[in-house]
Amino acid sequence: MSVSTTTSRRSFLKGATAGVAASALGMASVALADEAAGDPNAAPEAWDVETDVVVMGYGYAGQASAISAAVEGSKVQVFEKAPEEYAGGNSSVCCGYFNIVTGEGSVEYWKALADGGASDEECQAVAEATELMPEWFSENIINADITENDADRTSKKFNGVEYPNSNKYSMMINFDEAFDGQGGGQRTWNNIDAVIKDRYADSITLNYDSEVTHLIQDPATKEVLGVRVQQGDKEICVKAAKGVIMACGGFEANYEMVKDFVMPGFDQFHIGSPYNTGDGVRMLMEAGVKLRHMAATEYGAICHYDLSQEYQQAVCTYNSGDTTHTVFVNKHGKRFIGENSGMGWPAHDKRYPYPCFNQENPSLEKANYPFWMVFDETRRTAGTIFGWSNTKANEGWMSVHGPVQWSDDCTPEIEDGYVLKADSIEELGGLMGYEGDDLTAFVDEINAFNENGANGEDPEFGRSLSENDQKNGVTLGVTDGPFYAIKCGLCYLNTNGGGARNTDYQLVDWNDQPVARLYGAGEFGSIFYHYYSGGGNICECFTSGMKCGQNVSALEPWA
Ligand SMILES: Cc1cc2nc3c(=O)[nH]c(=O)nc-3n(C[C@H](O)[C@H](O)[C@H](O)COP(=O)(O)OP(=O)(O)OC[C@H]3O[C@@H](n4cnc5c(N)ncnc54)[C@H](O)[C@@H]3O)c2cc1C
Repeated sequence: MSVSTTTSRRSFLKGATAGVAASALGMASVALADEAAGDPNAAPEAWDVETDVVVMGYGYAGQASAISAAVEGSKVQVFEKAPEEYAGGNSSVCCGYFNIVTGEGSVEYWKALADGGASDEECQAVAEATELMPEWFSENIINADITENDADRTSKKFNGVEYPNSNKYSMMINFDEAFDGQGGGQRTWNNIDAVIKDRYADSITLNYDSEVTHLIQDPATKEVLGVRVQQGDKEICVKAAKGVIMACGGFEANYEMVKDFVMPGFDQFHIGSPYNTGDGVRMLMEAGVKLRHMAATEYGAICHYDLSQEYQQAVCTYNSGDTTHTVFVNKHGKRFIGENSGMGWPAHDKRYPYPCFNQENPSLEKANYPFWMVFDETRRTAGTIFGWSNTKANEGWMSVHGPVQWSDDCTPEIEDGYVLKADSIEELGGLMGYEGDDLTAFVDEINAFNENGANGEDPEFGRSLSENDQKNGVTLGVTDGPFYAIKCGLCYLNTNGGGARNTDYQLVDWNDQPVARLYGAGEFGSIFYHYYSGGGNICECFTSGMKCGQNVSALEPWA
């Protein structure tokens, strides 16, 4: 395997930046609408398409919303910004863990997860809806097999729920046992896509390359009447007689928003869909809808900083893998964490999770970010460094759609300059850009780590060797030249910010009044705020989609 270059990189970039190009088209649509009607939110003289329900986005939340509305007898138009081959958002590239929490204590559980970010009434409503969802799913989508706390099937590679004392259930979907080379999330999305195209073809129309750009509202009441959609260089106005469901995912791929809302200043990278550019957030602000949970981000793993900058996408992610013969150092050559500690953050934590950012002073200057992974020949030959984001896993956008794969021994990456190589630690430090005191600090740090490591100690960060390592003669220390370094960044899975919802999944204004005929599903305004129920995003997509489809379908058409 190697890091592909030339043609494949160019064509990948073309695909990946399509979202940006589409955004630019979206801006053009503002100009067009301004010209024609003076106000992009005003109703047109004539509608180009008329339907009962508009669904914006075709991830799991869009799929569930569309199916639910169709089951309730509505005609549905789904508008998906990406072309068909890239449709599905984060849902179609995620890991696919689908965990639900129900039963006694579940309301308390949701409250604890929300940690003040959702009202008690909303937690109650979410718990009630979650209770109903599995049966609804089995009846209307695909037969699902619900397993209580089956560690063997679900938690084997996954830490599971990250809040203590939870009563977790796992939902497995009875597809073919074989993954057909697809990751769990992709496979699930593809199978539901097939169900929609087969069973719901008469009621659900799927439109790709269709970017929803504006809500059309009654100017006085703000009731939502429809949407404007950009399809290439054509803009259409779509009447939604019953309502609009925003299931447009997060703003992961909008780095300006991420820097403004999540972690000021830092260049971090998203591992999901490049089409999730926060269009919905802009639309909410235009429509006067309240935002919530904008800082809630699920962090993922370490990635290759320079490659990720190059692709504007997390490339080659590393998920707390093998850290023997490896240390991480900051830009001043100092270690900042026990490298085998899972990087010191609870998975999926939302608030300033990383020692990398220097929790005491997360300024750009004081942060340990970006940082370097330094390793030796023993580690290089022990197996691939970046394990998650290769085609074997098929999770993450780059694995599913991109050309970059990491080799087993870094040979091509060294040749291409993505891994620095030197015969001595001092020479390596020079290649990494350390000078003066920083270079001295770096050399001293590695020497100290090696000296302590020879005695199996790490006084500063308490690293230790597993029994297995000891059996295999592994020692702490970066001792076996030549030496190597990779500049690392961090990637995140998804954001949870979006529209604030009430207990009926209606989006509300800044006075907590519902905006008529406007609903929100999925990670766009998710209940998840502080903590996250592992695998709970997918559960929420189907629960909220189910409720949105039912609630919007129950409305009388506005005309
Ligand atoms: C690598 C990875 C692994 C993950 N693993 C898990 C897991 O195992 N379990 C779990 O619960 N969660 C997981 N997550 C999180 C989970 O995948 C997401 O939270 C969930 O899929 C979000 O679904 P959604 O339908 O809300 O949004 P998405 O699936 O992102 O769909 C949003 C859709 O809206 C479209 N869109 C955006 N703007 C517009 C517009 N203007 N007009 C029209 N369409 C638009 C996008 O193109 C996209 O298709 C993972 C995420 C990633 C990235």
